[in-house]
This record gives sequence, C-alpha cells and structure tokens, in this order.
Amino acid sequence: MAVPVSQAWTVATYVIGQKLKGRKRFPLVTMLEPLFRCNLACAGCGKIQYPAHILKQELTPEECFKAVEEAGTPMVSIPGGEPLLHPRIDEIVAGLVARKKYVYMCTNALLLKEKLHLFKPSKYLSFSVHLDGQREHHDFSVCREGGYDIAVEGIKAAIAAGFRVTTNTTLFDGADPNSVRAFFDELMEIGVEGVMVAPGYTYEKAPDQKHFLGRARSRRLFRAILSNRKKSWKFNASPMYMEFLMGKREFTCTPWGMPAYSVFGWQKPCYLLQDGYADTFKELIDTTDWSNYGTESGNPKCANCMVHSGYEASGVYYTFGSLRGLLETAMATFFDTYQDRGALDLLNEPVKPMHSFNPLIQIEATVQTTARIDTRVGEGTTV
Ligand code: SF4
Repeated sequence: MAVPVSQAWTVATYVIGQKLKGRKRFPLVTMLEPLFRCNLACAGCGKIQYPAHILKQELTPEECFKAVEEAGTPMVSIPGGEPLLHPRIDEIVAGLVARKKYVYMCTNALLLKEKLHLFKPSKYLSFSVHLDGQREHHDFSVCREGGYDIAVEGIKAAIAAGFRVTTNTTLFDGADPNSVRAFFDELMEIGVEGVMVAPGYTYEKAPDQKHFLGRARSRRLFRAILSNRKKSWKFNASPMYMEFLMGKREFTCTPWGMPAYSVFGWQKPCYLLQDGYADTFKELIDTTDWSNYGTESGNPKCANCMVHSGYEASGVYYTFGSLRGLLETAMATFFDTYQDRGALDLLNEPVKPMHSFNPLIQIEATVQTTARIDTRVGEGTTV
C-alpha cells in the first residue's frame, strides 16, 4: 500500500462514519485552488486560460481554512494554477497540516527545489508532482523543454529532505503504454511514494482539443498499462478506481466527492465543469441538480469522462459501502499483478505518439508573482 497506514485509517473511519450518519452526499477530498496563475501553459489544461484580472487573484489562508472546514474532508488537494506561485502558500499548507488534514500539494515542481525551505516534512504533507511521462513525453505535454529534468531534481531534493512525494500523470490519446510502464520504473527508482495515472478531460478552454481520450480508448490504454504489473510499482489511487480505468468494473460519477473551491467560490458541479458557483459548501450540495451529471445522465460534457476527481471517490465509497466492497478491495490490493495475456498483446501494437505528428511548441507563460520578503528564514529570501 502506497499511503501510510494512519492516512488509510483516517479515510476509512471518516467514510464509514459518514455512512453511519446516513449522509447521502459527502465529500472525500477538498480541491482547493488558491490561484489560477501558472508558470507553464500546457496544451491540455483549461485552468490558465482565464483573463489576466482573474489570474492575478488568489485566496487568503483564512479563506482556504474556512472552505476546508466547511467541507470537513480528511484530505485536501491543492491544485491550481501552480500553488508554489502563491505568496502565502507556506501559511496555507502549515494551517492545513495543523488541522490534521492530509494535504497533497500539486505542483509542476519547477520551483520545488528553491521553495522547499518554506515547508516542514510531515506525514500530513505530500508533494504531488505533475509528470506526464518520460522526459520527451512530459516536455511535450507541458510545452516546456527541460521541464522534466527540473521536476525530477525537485523530487529528489524533496525526498532527500524527508518529504513525502507522489506523482500524478495525465494521459492523452497517443500515449505509449510501454513508455508509461518504463516511466513507473523510473519513478520507483527515484523513490516516489506512489504514482497516480488518469485520462485527461476535454476542457472546453484547453488549446489542444484533438488528443483527449474517449472511454473505449481509455480502457484499452489503461488495460495495457496497468495489467501485468511489476511488484515494485506503488500506486496512489484506490484499487477500485484503477480497475474502473482498466474496464474491469463500472462506476457512476461522484461529482461531489472532490468539490473544488477557488476565487469564484464552490464550483458546480465538479472540478471540471463550470455550471455556476455557490458561496457555501452546503449551498453547493443543496442547489446543484446532480441528476444532470455523470456519464449515465446523458450530459454530453460527461460522455467520455473517467477522471480521478469524478471517480476516485466512487471507488473509495464502493470499498467502504459493503462487506463485498471491502473484500474485493482486499483482493485487489493483495493480488495486484493482473496477469492478462491480451494486455501483453496490446503492448506489442504500434503506437503513433502525439509528437510524431505535432512538434513540441515551446510556450513561455508570463506570470506575475507577488514578491514578498520572508523574514522567517532570517536572511530576507524573496519568494
Ligand atoms: S462525469 Fe466528469 S465532467 Fe461529468 S460531473 Fe462527473 S467528474 Fe464532472
């Protein structure tokens, strides 16, 4: 198991407790977006396409704590934008850790090494580094040559300093399953705690609309990648969600499982769609017409979606929803190699990587950071 036992226990007792209280819709992870600014401009990302006046806005630590307390989740993910560009990210993380929240700080790690001194290692804090595959795949995906090497340097520095480090990888059409499997080997060698892989979502705002995966192609790709696993690979995702990606089981979406809070408020209905905003988490739950969402709803925006933020909670809630769920998850945890002859054949099929028909486009993102002097480190470090 990739996550510490204390974290698994906290999540298990939280989910069972919510179910015993009879709560129909409860969240698992708060997706806290303290800003949308980024130092990358990835072709598959819909977050940094906002106008400049929105990109300049950021949540205060107090707004972050209020949102997390409202949702009451045991885990908080901090995506963005690039959270390390937030001038008070150290206060936000320290405040969440003090509240005993398990924090995944998502970062492209371009600034990780230089900002590591702002954080203290803790079992509650994990850097979740966005890496989209081996060097050339990642650099292509984030439109930045050299991005992979800087990120890996940041990961190594964080691990050496005693931090928990996980990775998250978004896969698009044209992903090479053999390369992804080799990438897992590289990450295990570097010493990351666990990897998470998921298909990208068709963001309407994303500049590259051509390479998002449909459901059938996603299942085929993930069957090839996640079957015949090596024992050395460790994953940071629910075994049930990974079986869903491999096409071994069906889940309906749980859009309230990972609710997103940003400078706009609580986003309806999920991290990916923007059908309005609510001022409070209760308002989000009470005023969203949830029947309009999920693949089974017929909503075309949900048709191909298999993303982590919609279905990881479905997997976790399935695990703790019945004795059968617990047993199936235990089986998936202990017998996790998934021997599959057909999946081996898929690995031998030719792949046409995206960058063989699309050249890497170097995008220089212009990012304005709010510089301040950090007096805590004694020598006036500008962050
Ligand atoms: S299926 Fe995807 S896009 Fe639709 S509500 Fe669920 S997470 Fe959001």
